[in-house]
Amino acid sequence: MIYFYYATIFETIDKWLGLDSIVGFFNAVLFSLLTAMTMLTYIMGIMSDPGTVPLRYKDLENPDISLHEGKKNGESRFCMKCSRYRPPRAHHCSICNKCILRMDHHCIWLSNCVGHRNYKIFILVVMYAVATCCHATILLICAARDVFKTQQQTGEAYKISHITCGALLFPLTLVLTMLFLWHIYLALHNKTTIEHAQGVRERSLLDGVADAHRHPYDLGAYENFSLLFGRNAACWICPTKVDNGSGLHFRTTLDGTNSASSSSSM
Ligand SMILES: [Zn+2]
Ligand SMILES: [Zn+2]
Repeated sequence: MIYFYYATIFETIDKWLGLDSIVGFFNAVLFSLLTAMTMLTYIMGIMSDPGTVPLRYKDLENPDISLHEGKKNGESRFCMKCSRYRPPRAHHCSICNKCILRMDHHCIWLSNCVGHRNYKIFILVVMYAVATCCHATILLICAARDVFKTQQQTGEAYKISHITCGALLFPLTLVLTMLFLWHIYLALHNKTTIEHAQGVRERSLLDGVADAHRHPYDLGAYENFSLLFGRNAACWICPTKVDNGSGLHFRTTLDGTNSASSSSSM
């Protein structure tokens, strides 16, 4: 990150546009802001609590929930390692050694689980990282194109720095963009990575009466997004806390028009 920041500000922007020009200064400020947001959300992601199953949780195999959820592997809701029942959408993380509410995955980059309480901050880390990488990539391509067009006599070190930066930046941007788009797709369908992998479907499809692709927690794109990122759309890109409930109960497609989504407490 430090190398990318130095290379973009001093090797690309300064040598191409000049930090004393308006365009150069604007790009330097924008890139610095995006880098700062990436670092801020990254630190918040590391320190965040994904949400764990409370000790007092004893909602033994709630039949209402079992009616909604069908899984390919028929996974039990009792965790042998924690010796307790876990709510729907919770899973045991073998790295954290505890059950995580609405677990998505264990992120090695954050060294933390991504779950009910920190999914938004995880998405924001990826989003700001993508924005930073895309900005750096555009600057790098434009700078290289201008140098090529004007046949500027640049030093060998400048060219090597450009090539090194590009060789690291392009694959990183591509991977992060794909990861971001994948999680936006999951968020729009209110689905976790684990649920996608396990093929969680609405229970009624097992009886052949439902859409075979229907996810029990998919309440529509806008509603799903609001549940995960907050009701106020202006705060969707801000690393603010979301009041998305206890994570012990989740509204499903079979709950009709109940307004209290996952906010219902045990
Ligand atoms: Zn467990
Ligand atoms: Zn974990």
